Amino acid sequence: MTTPAAVSKLNTNLFIDGQWVPARSGATFDVVNPATEEVLAVVADGAAADATAALDAAVAVQAEWAATAPRERGEILRRAFELITERTDEIASIMTAEMGKPLAEAKGEVAYGAEFFRWFSEEAVRISGDQLLAPDGKTRYFVQRQPVGPCVLVTPWNFPLAMGTRKIGPAVAAGCTMVFKPAELTPLTSLALVEILAEAGLPDGVLNVVNTTDPGDVVTAWMTDPRARKVSFTGSTPVGKQLLKQAADNVMRTSMELGGNAPFLVFDDADLDVAIGGAMAAKMRNMGEACVAANRIYVQSGVAEEFSNRLAEKMRALTVGDGATEGVGVGPLIEQKALDKVVQLVDDAVERGAEVKVGGDRPEGDGFFYNPTVLSNVSSESDLMSTEIFGPVAAVVPFDTEEEAIALANATPFGLAGYLFTTDLNRAFRVSDAMEVGMVGLNTGIVSNPAAPFGGIKQSGLGREGGSEGIDEFLEVKLIAMPQP
Ligand code: NAD
Repeated sequence: MTTPAAVSKLNTNLFIDGQWVPARSGATFDVVNPATEEVLAVVADGAAADATAALDAAVAVQAEWAATAPRERGEILRRAFELITERTDEIASIMTAEMGKPLAEAKGEVAYGAEFFRWFSEEAVRISGDQLLAPDGKTRYFVQRQPVGPCVLVTPWNFPLAMGTRKIGPAVAAGCTMVFKPAELTPLTSLALVEILAEAGLPDGVLNVVNTTDPGDVVTAWMTDPRARKVSFTGSTPVGKQLLKQAADNVMRTSMELGGNAPFLVFDDADLDVAIGGAMAAKMRNMGEACVAANRIYVQSGVAEEFSNRLAEKMRALTVGDGATEGVGVGPLIEQKALDKVVQLVDDAVERGAEVKVGGDRPEGDGFFYNPTVLSNVSSESDLMSTEIFGPVAAVVPFDTEEEAIALANATPFGLAGYLFTTDLNRAFRVSDAMEVGMVGLNTGIVSNPAAPFGGIKQSGLGREGGSEGIDEFLEVKLIAMPQP
């Protein structure tokens, strides 16, 4: 295996108060390439004492950082956007090596992730307030927005750049300092990002990064420290719930982007070409390892067989392999545990009567690969209908009526994304309104964009990232009352 040059160049220490420092314990951990199972890099392994030092640094510069001109904060983000864009190939090579997604998708994530910085560079100078007169005419009220204070940021491994920029962008724009813990499976992209932000002029102490193999230890040190005023978390629902409980003790502000179980509805009046294209995007992006991945594909009975066959044909045409290799469309899953879970979910569905249209197995050799799979006539009792598959497996279930489709779509404690394919305008709005989700893809398999509010309802989370809503998550409202002269 050749380690990408961009990986070899990285500083893999902790980043605290503008300095690259080893963990106090001297501990390190290995980062593994999921396509080859070989060690890619060795990274400093932080613990609670490092976490506290990072928070000390963030707290020390909070007031000064909050007082910087919005334009200055915006221009740091804008410069970082330019630098990320210039270094697209380097960052994409790091991401593919540590996470597995094909290079073309990694470049797509670089563009998407960078865009959060451009978007929030523009939002930094548009933090508005309000002014009003009391109904009795005696008092004037000024409504202002101020940064919430030092923030705890915790991100998952599946979008190693974008999950970070989606939080760091609005925090910088709002004037918050940060302590940041990237996912231990993919710490390298975040280290490249930190270097870029420092180069773009982010002052020392504003962003501090602690990688660790003991997230509970590091994050608990922050969550139990009353100086941390907000937590923004993206990851699984069980960890999100735990952080919400910890946040309660310090009454911290919270933003939670948690797990999904997206329904994907195809009605018999849908344009099947559009629906198949949407299913490929919503299922196969990131090898299915996305919180908005289509998890349960419900297709009206009249077109279910044709839909499954055509989807299987598209899936069969995909090349599985190391994402760094040209022409590969499906990379490995993130780790052995993830692969074992997908194997188990497919086996369970098949035991309960699902028909394997394509795939259903894994290729020989090293790496955590699973073949693109289409299962039809999946029983609603199957485990994969209630579990995030997080793999390249499309589970197709037939339905008969619109009411049945809506009931099936909503029969989950999650509510992140949902997809709907129909050419009937009335049905489009009726079903969109009835779907219990934060985001609906209407005749499209892609919902996310930095300019649009991303987030879920029910157990998929609290708050929104991106859009004009994203910066509000990092701002407090302050009222100043003054007698009317
Ligand atoms: P995870 O919850 O295991 O890990 C997410 C982050 O939390 C990682 O940085 C991890 O180190 C940290 N963590 C783990 N245990 C912790 C603890 N006890 N205390 C504090 N932090 C802890 O999730 P994952 O496997 O990395 O990511 C997959 C999950 O993320 C899926 O459920 C997916 O749907 C969800 N996700 C959601 C969104 C969204 O925007 N809603 C986006 C991407 C991923």
